[in-house]
This record gives sequence, structure tokens and C-alpha cells, in this order.
Amino acid sequence: MKIGTPKELFEGEARVAMTPSSAQQLQKLGYDCVLESGAGVLAGFSDAVYAEAGVEIVPNAAALWEAADIVAKVRQPESDELKYLAKGKTLISFFNPAGNEEGMEAAKAAGSNVIAMEMVPRISRAQKMDALSSMANIAGYRAVIEAGNNFGRFFTGQITAAGKVPPARVLIVGAGVAGLAAIGTSVALGAVTYAFDVRPEVAEQVESMGAEFVYLDFEEEQQDGSATGGYASVQSEEFRNAQLAKFREIAGDMDIVITTALIPNRPAPKLWLEDMVKAMKPGSVIVDLAAERGGNVEGTVKDEKVVTDNGVTIVGYTDFPSRMGAQASELYATNIRHMMTDLTPEKDGQINHNMEDDVIRGATVTFEGEITFPPPPPKIQ
Ligand code: NAD
Repeated sequence: MKIGTPKELFEGEARVAMTPSSAQQLQKLGYDCVLESGAGVLAGFSDAVYAEAGVEIVPNAAALWEAADIVAKVRQPESDELKYLAKGKTLISFFNPAGNEEGMEAAKAAGSNVIAMEMVPRISRAQKMDALSSMANIAGYRAVIEAGNNFGRFFTGQITAAGKVPPARVLIVGAGVAGLAAIGTSVALGAVTYAFDVRPEVAEQVESMGAEFVYLDFEEEQQDGSATGGYASVQSEEFRNAQLAKFREIAGDMDIVITTALIPNRPAPKLWLEDMVKAMKPGSVIVDLAAERGGNVEGTVKDEKVVTDNGVTIVGYTDFPSRMGAQASELYATNIRHMMTDLTPEKDGQINHNMEDDVIRGATVTFEGEITFPPPPPKIQ
């Protein structure tokens, strides 16, 4: 069978779902690989490098979709791509099944099988295919770099002949995958790093990375996230007030704030309010990684960078993985390749779409003309 990757249509998207090295691995599974000409250019991979890795190059999207039995891409397909779905073809990409009725109906009507990468169950066995985590890791790292780029000072403290420079103080709100990557990067750059999360079980991890966990002055225990499978749930009013009071207390001391707080299937909680932004010093920077889902910060403008009247820069970009196209493509293509390994147990270049497998079942959102989303809860934890 042939596996193919088209050029991403989304304006400015630099990622590509197949890299020359992932193509070589896919060939070891018995597949032939095909690529739309130019699909890897923004990620730094020319057609020539793919050709050297044994990939057939075709001139346009129509030829790519025609040639490939399995299409791997990054972004959910646009209307122009949905027309190519057909019986016997498998699509593997982010697909947003809960908010993409057009795509789901098109895939069902066409009889295409769709594997949605955001639906890969977050269990240990599936970590190698967990594209949400791969991309969150990049976003967390890049958020710190972006903050540094907008911050006119050092992260690390220095004693120089020209004077003593204090280290930057960085607060990371939300210590999930993106937050932990941001903590690691901030600590590595030498900033004094603080972190907060509603899940107290991450405190130890935060401290082991060299950051300081921000504890609340709160009578009851902080929320126990284990009841919600490791994810955060909505907080009580008292808890939220204690959290806001703590943020208010420390806002003026922070040079950089990176917010990553999300609650599954809900808008992002507003945690850094206007008065906290006002309390920050001129030249301070906020990066709101939750901008896609409405933002954690009052004043975030999605996909833009704004500077407030008191000189605080708020970055609301939502394309952090694409800003690191080469790295993001390597990791995403590797996630796809691992998915293909599980779909090809015989390594014979033939897809075996085993709906008895928890991971494959969980990620499959349409199968043989049926909508198979949402999946049953996974058996293995
Ligand atoms: P996420 O992107 O859903 O949320 C980011 C963080 O925001 C979370 O840590 C959450 O607790 C926090 N948050 C929510 N509301 C907050 C608030 N009001 N104030 C401060 N912080 C708040 O998280 P994620 O990165 O997807 O990770 C969620 C969980 O899933 C973690 O336990 C993580 O370890 C786990 N996980 C498991 C796997 C796996 O086993 N394969 C993979 C990835 C993540």
C-alpha cells in the first residue's frame, strides 16, 4: 500500500506529517511513500531529500490523494480536501471530531476510515503516538523562547563589571505537558521559576525540576486531580478566590508569566485578570498558551501580540509548534510512524485496522461508513 502526505493548506502552517527519516521507517513496514511536491519545504525538507529517502514526489494534491491508500497530514482537512475521501482510504491527522461535523459527515458518506490524532488515548502504551503531548512540549518550550524574545533583559542573574543583574522571575501557571516543558526551559535559562497547578501531585515534579511550587493559603486540600484521570476539573469558588488572591500578591514581582491552564472540553479558565496585568512592571511579558480556547489572561488577543498601556506585552499566538516546523514535524511524523507500526503488525505494507485494539479503536472516529466517535472508555489504564 501507499502512504502519502499532502502540503498543508492552512495559511503559514510549517509542519509536515512525513519527514525523510519517517518515510524510511514507513518503508521498513512495507509501505511505498508518496509526497506532494513542496510539502516539506517550510519544515526544511526539500523534494530532493525526500527523493533520496525513496519517496515518490507527485505534482499536486489531486495526484497525491489519488495515489495514496493512507493519507497522513497535520491539520484537520479543509473542505477542498474532504472531497478526496473515498472508500478504502484511511486518513490520519488531527480531525477535531467533536467540532467538525462537516468532516465527520464527509468521511462517513465517503466510507473513509479516519484516525484522529488528538483522540489517541493517554495511556502509557500509546505515549509514542501522543501527538497532543509532542506538540504541547514544543509549545511550552517555545513560549519561553517567545517570552525571552519580547523581554528586554537577561533570564539569568549576572555579576558584571557594569553592575549586578538580578535573575528574571518567571511564573508558569498550569504544569501539564506544556507547563512542564516551559518550567524546564525557564530553569535552564537561569530564571528563578515558580509554578502553580490545581493538581497538587505535580508539586514534587515541579520542585525536582528546580522550580518553586506556589502553594495557596487555602484551608482545604488542593484539588485532587486523580478523580478526573489526571486532568483538572472546575474549581470551587473558594479555591478560585484563594488562587486569584495568591496571584494578586505575586503579580508585581513577576517579569514573565506563562499560562497553560486548561480543563478538558471547557473554555480556558480566566486566571490572570486585568488588575494583575496592571500590577506588572513595564517590560514584563505574558505568554498565554491557552489563547486558542479563549485565554487564561484578560487582554489576550488570539494570534496577536499586544502591549498594554502599562507596557506589558501579552502574546496570544496559537501556532507555537508551527513556529518550530522542523522539530514539530520530526516529532509528529514519528507519532504517525508509531501509529502505522501498530496498524501494520505483519510489516507487510498492509493496514490492519484492528478495532479490538484499545488505542486504534480510541483514535478511530469513522470506520467503514460509520461514525465511531466518541469511543468507549479504554480498558487499559
Ligand atoms: P492540559 O493541557 O489539559 O492542562 C494544562 C494544565 O493546566 C494541567 O496540568 C491542569 O491541571 C492545569 N490547570 C487547569 N486548571 C487550572 C487552574 N485553574 N489553575 C492552574 N492550573 C490549572 O494538561 P495536559 O498537559 O494534557 O496534561 C493533563 C494530564 O494528563 C496530566 O496528568 C498529564 O500527566 C497527563 N498526561 C498523560 C499522558 C499519558 O499517560 N500518555 C500523556 C499526556 C498527559
